Amino acid sequence: MTARLMVVEDDPANARFLEAALSAEYYDVKTICHAHEVLTQAAAWQPDVILLDVMMPRINGYELCEQLKSEDSTRHIPVVMVTGLKDPADRRRGLAAGADEFLTKPIEHEILLARLRGIIRLKRVLDEWRARYVTMAALGLGGARDAAVPNGRALIVDDLLIRAHRLQAVLQTSGITAALVANDTEAGEAMESEPFDLVILSLSLLSCDPLRLIAKFQSSALTRDTPLLMTAEREQNAAVIAGLNLGAADCMMMPLDEAECLLRVNNLVRRKRHQDALRDDVAQALALAVIDPLTKLYNRRYMMTHLERLCEDPARGRFAVLMIDVDHFKKINDEFGHGVGDKVLEETGKLLYSVLRKTDLISRFGGEEFLTVISGLSDKRRALAVAEKLRQAIAALRILPELRLSVSIGVAIRDPDSDLPAAALIERADKAMYHAKRRGRNVVCLYGDDIAMPAGPAEVAE
Ligand code: GH3
Ligand code: MG
Ligand code: MG
Repeated sequence: MTARLMVVEDDPANARFLEAALSAEYYDVKTICHAHEVLTQAAAWQPDVILLDVMMPRINGYELCEQLKSEDSTRHIPVVMVTGLKDPADRRRGLAAGADEFLTKPIEHEILLARLRGIIRLKRVLDEWRARYVTMAALGLGGARDAAVPNGRALIVDDLLIRAHRLQAVLQTSGITAALVANDTEAGEAMESEPFDLVILSLSLLSCDPLRLIAKFQSSALTRDTPLLMTAEREQNAAVIAGLNLGAADCMMMPLDEAECLLRVNNLVRRKRHQDALRDDVAQALALAVIDPLTKLYNRRYMMTHLERLCEDPARGRFAVLMIDVDHFKKINDEFGHGVGDKVLEETGKLLYSVLRKTDLISRFGGEEFLTVISGLSDKRRALAVAEKLRQAIAALRILPELRLSVSIGVAIRDPDSDLPAAALIERADKAMYHAKRRGRNVVCLYGDDIAMPAGPAEVAE
């Protein structure tokens, strides 16, 4: 997909130059000359990156950047500030306003392109998580997270101790603790042993090739998501570009400007935390979407999907579904209270889990109904034996001394050559279960050819 760049620049000559240079790299470029249009245009067009000129009449770039970063519709768009100012204090101001990158005019073409590639790559990852997060939110799952960044952890990879120690001391002033390692082997071990928010790598490393290390970090799932900040000497421009192209997130020039260093580090740590939070929310929301919170069993939604897949799998052998319904559960609630009712469901779930095999799927299918899939059956007898074992085990449960618990179980078998769909199979198990209710409850019934036939203890014992 072509990346979209929004160039905010009031000087027409500069604008034309940037537009030409970027279009030649196949970016989709839109130039905005008037600062007051930036917010609405950015919200509407949703560029991948905004290149923002700092010095413009009427409004300054810092304020604009702050506004972009405070709007929900534009906050996620990376902002690269472009300026003629060389004063480090201005760079710091830009970073404090939320800018993701800061480039000084005249812009070096290669640096600009390398930076853009890195920023866009990161944005794509964040967009992916954001999209899933939005879906989850639309389903009513997941919630907003606050973006505080307490207790940052950084890993410094440098073999010049004096330089590493100074960086460590600077980070400490902002509450970020840093571990020091001197080469690629130690770096790999450190990353395996604990999570870091950030890796800071010196391009002056002599103990190993720092660019090779960046490539290695980017290729491993363990380290890929941790932002990598390079430190470089002025004359290492080529290595900086190569590093950015390999996937490094950012670069700091030596000698270290302490304030700028802290701003950059904090930005990266915040971004990493944001990314982690989105990912965790998606994972958590997924769990919420398929797991019943009371019994911790799969819910109906998951079971249906699973069963549909099972029914479509031609390699799947014979299997059975068991519809297990608690008898007179309403009375249990009424007599002992909802709390005890919940406990009954929890304990029944646990019992199913302990009696059945790990390969059997167990779900809470409705209020006091459990649906399980028993696979690997040679014939119906084993399914009935399992169902009978469950019935007896539940009847023996003593949650309260005066509480007698029982379940009615309906069994439906699906033969390997059958083309019965999942919904029809469940309907059969349901019918058999209702037949068990009619027979007086606390029994197992098997669905027969056309009607639900009682299995009876004799048939089970066969
Ligand atoms: P039967 O023997 O015919 O199955 O009768 P029953 O009372 O078990 O069945 P019915 O469908 O009439 O009642 C089911 C009850 O389960 C009604 C509902 O309030 C209760 N229930 C559903 N979900 C929960 C839950 O999560 N916790 C508790 N405590 N009760 C629940
Ligand atoms: Mg019931
Ligand atoms: Mg019921």
